Amino acid sequence: MRDVRELMRPSAAALEPYDPKFTPVSINLSANENSYGMPVYVYDKVMRALGDVKANRYPDPLATRLRGRLASLYGLESGQVIVGNGGDELIFNLFLAFGGGGAKVVDCPPTFSIYRLYAELCECTVADVPRDPETFAVDEDALLAEAADARITIVTSPNNPTGTLTPLAFIEELCAATDGLVLADEAYMEFAGAPSAPSAATLLDRCPNLVVLRTLSKAFALAGGRIGYVLAAPAIVSALAAVRQPYSVNSFSQAVAETVVREGARFAPTIAELCENRGILASELAKLDGLTVWPSSANFLLVRVPHAHRVWELLRDEHSILVRDFSATPGLADCLRITVGRPEECAAVVEAFIDILSLKEDEL
Ligand SMILES: *Cc1c(COP(=O)(O)O)cnc(C)c1O
Repeated sequence: MRDVRELMRPSAAALEPYDPKFTPVSINLSANENSYGMPVYVYDKVMRALGDVKANRYPDPLATRLRGRLASLYGLESGQVIVGNGGDELIFNLFLAFGGGGAKVVDCPPTFSIYRLYAELCECTVADVPRDPETFAVDEDALLAEAADARITIVTSPNNPTGTLTPLAFIEELCAATDGLVLADEAYMEFAGAPSAPSAATLLDRCPNLVVLRTLSKAFALAGGRIGYVLAAPAIVSALAAVRQPYSVNSFSQAVAETVVREGARFAPTIAELCENRGILASELAKLDGLTVWPSSANFLLVRVPHAHRVWELLRDEHSILVRDFSATPGLADCLRITVGRPEECAAVVEAFIDILSLKEDEL
């Protein structure tokens, strides 16, 4: 037999298995999860719903009940909603259904690395429209020009890992300026302070090529349940339904998600608290010498600190705090992304930074 790599699909041959670099630590602020978890009331309801799951039967492929709940939440029809095994699966399926054959995908780095990874795996060509190196705002004119002949243009709002919001008026303009689809990835929109930062879902009436992505992984404390969803025109939803693996969203996750969506309002206090914690953490960190903190509309902060990679190691090894190291990413030299957690977790981060920044150059 030949070398396995030679047998592989060329777009897959260069890839390595994804490693989120999770190490056991006492404070994990590396993956933008909700540190509070579910409210106890919701958790009890979830446990009861799990008890009723008929695991000997295949799941409902299109998660009809969950889909109906999500549709009514946004005032949409069920046919405008599709559920996936996390938002990531829906991003992959979008490229699977609409990409391939070198189709052009446009994104705005620094942003979520999954877009390029999955787009290239699905044999799309990725064109980058870099964000402003200082503010990380989207270069609107350049994006409008690049999107004109693109198959899929991606705007992440709030953006991961920069926390930057993109104005809704611009997303609408973008939809009108392209012949292809526009993906508005709103994985963190709950932290952007709605209703002042409304979802792009409000544009669906006017923008038939718009695809809005949301997830229960972040604000709704369900990263382990793997539930994401897309809101889009019925024809786009049908295309995504056609390429999906029929049983990718298991019955347990469907049952949990139905409960979480039904009780969604009960998450409002912790979401508000996380936004408050974000403000406190940002102002405490900004006081420290040599540290730059960007404004964020999400549940994380991007910070720039000299010797960031070493600081990341010291946080992990000396303080048992895991954050995400972006210092090797183009445009993010010396940058770390810190998930906003509970007050005591945020306080531990500030203490650790004070300690690390007090070290002399030769102690680093
Ligand atoms: C977390 C995240 C998602 C989706 O996460 P899932 O856990 O797969 O639902 C999508 N986009 C961005 C930018 C994210 O950060």
